[in-house]
Amino acid sequence: MKKHNFNAGPSILPQVAIENTAKAILDFNGIGLSILEISHRSKEFQAVIDEAVALFKEVLGIPEGYQVLFLGGGASTQFCMVPFNLLNKKAAYLETGVWAKKALKEAKLFGEVTNVASSADRNYCYIPKGFTVPTDAEYFHITTNNTIYGTEIHEDYNCQIPLVADMSSDILSRPVDVSKYAMIYGGAQKNLGPAGVTFVIVREDILGKVERTIPTMLDYRTHIKEGSMFNTPPVLPIFTLNETLKWLKALGGVEKMYEMNKKKAGLLYDAIDNSKMFVGTADKDSRSLMNICFVMKDEYKDKEEAFMEFAKKQGMVGIKGHRSVGGFRASTYNALPIESVQALVDCMAEFEKNNM
Ligand SMILES: *Cc1c(COP(=O)(O)O)cnc(C)c1O
Repeated sequence: MKKHNFNAGPSILPQVAIENTAKAILDFNGIGLSILEISHRSKEFQAVIDEAVALFKEVLGIPEGYQVLFLGGGASTQFCMVPFNLLNKKAAYLETGVWAKKALKEAKLFGEVTNVASSADRNYCYIPKGFTVPTDAEYFHITTNNTIYGTEIHEDYNCQIPLVADMSSDILSRPVDVSKYAMIYGGAQKNLGPAGVTFVIVREDILGKVERTIPTMLDYRTHIKEGSMFNTPPVLPIFTLNETLKWLKALGGVEKMYEMNKKKAGLLYDAIDNSKMFVGTADKDSRSLMNICFVMKDEYKDKEEAFMEFAKKQGMVGIKGHRSVGGFRASTYNALPIESVQALVDCMAEFEKNNM
């Protein structure tokens, strides 16, 4: 039976990216060797990483003055690399979920941290508004999409101090004005590629301003200087990421993704809002286009497990909500076809009809 992959991360990738990766594992570019067994410094792999950097810049519209890096360590390593490289005395953080909180915790190791606003009071079901960012902080850190709670910051903030964003789960899902950010980073495994590679977009002029000594591997300047090849980069994940970027560009780029993502999310949110049995968990104005969280209304709570079973039988994969929210979460990343969303909507309607 056809599987509908709503996994939150690692998550669905374009079929063509997976097929081309499989081919490259068997015989890379017809050189008679697997991509797994060649040097990262070979001209064949250099061409892959060069193309990935160029495509990333092109599809996201990254202006001059910014560098694109592909590193290891996940977004979680960026939680400490960011303050290591940018925090002298004080930083500001917006606490919109556990990932944001983890980032904030690491920053405290390096200096004073102002928690500008938090939505912890209602289990992170909304994006705080009307907060003030201290102008004496060295940067302001935000998490644009809160993967666990299904909330998203839909605008590019105008910020007087350098803006740093964890975009792990909404990168390339919508157009972004990169010039408003000093840094954008994320793990690739949500919307961009397989696990193992982390992307970093950094405006070079913000670096080299801290007083401390930075270990070589944790200094962005090392990786800029060496073109992400100071040490062995995650070769295979970068290959698949590049294939995903090629797929995205061929389909019409980020604008097209945004249009498709709005359609997919709209379809599911409408179904949730029109349902007598299901209800969304995030405030409407904060709803994510990437991770759609919902539960059963109190009077039907005892049917959640039955719905999970029913949905599983219809081919739905990965719709269990994160344990801190409960219920269900459907991740509708770029590569998820609208047919899968329709299948989930049909499945919800059928269950509701049979169980009211
Ligand atoms: C998944 C996720 C992370 C953690 O990424 P790792 O690559 O596993 O370290 C961080 N931030 C957000 C928003 C995420 O969704």
